[in-house]
Amino acid sequence: MPQLIAGNWKMHCLTADAIALAEAVAAGAAGITAELLVCPTALHVAAVAKALAGSPVAVGGQDCHQTPQGAHTGDIAAPMLRDAGASYVILGHSERRQNHDETDELIREKTIAAVEAGLTPIVCVGETLDQRTGGQETEVVGWQIAGSLPKPFAGVVAYEPVWAIGTGKTATEQDVATMHAFIREELVRQFGEDGHGIRILYGGSVKASNAAALLAVPHVGGALVGGASLKADEFLTIARAAR
Ligand code: PGA
Repeated sequence: MPQLIAGNWKMHCLTADAIALAEAVAAGAAGITAELLVCPTALHVAAVAKALAGSPVAVGGQDCHQTPQGAHTGDIAAPMLRDAGASYVILGHSERRQNHDETDELIREKTIAAVEAGLTPIVCVGETLDQRTGGQETEVVGWQIAGSLPKPFAGVVAYEPVWAIGTGKTATEQDVATMHAFIREELVRQFGEDGHGIRILYGGSVKASNAAALLAVPHVGGALVGGASLKADEFLTIARAAR
């Protein structure tokens, strides 16, 4: 399976910028063997999907509601993302866990809703600095996997240590190797043989200068890239470093 290089554009870009960024990524995609994905804000999914039509670059959302429709002012349902052209959705990002009090249980419900709508969920897990300093990182991530992933799980896991997101601090290759091996073990323990086939992305200050080393670590199935995905050239350099 090729690696998946996903850009999480977070709350960045006005419409014209999002379209220009998508077009620049698509223009440089030829010859890249990794699977490419960009995740603009929900408001821009349709415009970005239109700009990427006919290109190998997929589009994803950054969140969805746990029910397919209803009286939920301000929320966006998974079928709406799908309808707008998304094929993936990021769920349980630490910024949503922190800023919107998302629990493992809620993320599991959202994951089920995403799969039912035909989207591939990318479920994020990862410990805070306090948890790592306290030696609890594997325990925390194990609980997040057990709580956030429905059985069976038709999606992708992203390991994003909270202390490495947007901070410029990247986990060392050894940190990533240890945690990805642990996550693989957990997935196999919880999902049996299917656990071997689940992609595990690394996320947290992935950039052009560290991508090749991180993407070469065993059990790393790709990268979830925040800041560096807002520059098409750097995002493409990261993608070229992929297996
Ligand atoms: P970063 O963000 O690459 O800017 O650290 C990663 C993410 O939050 O997905």
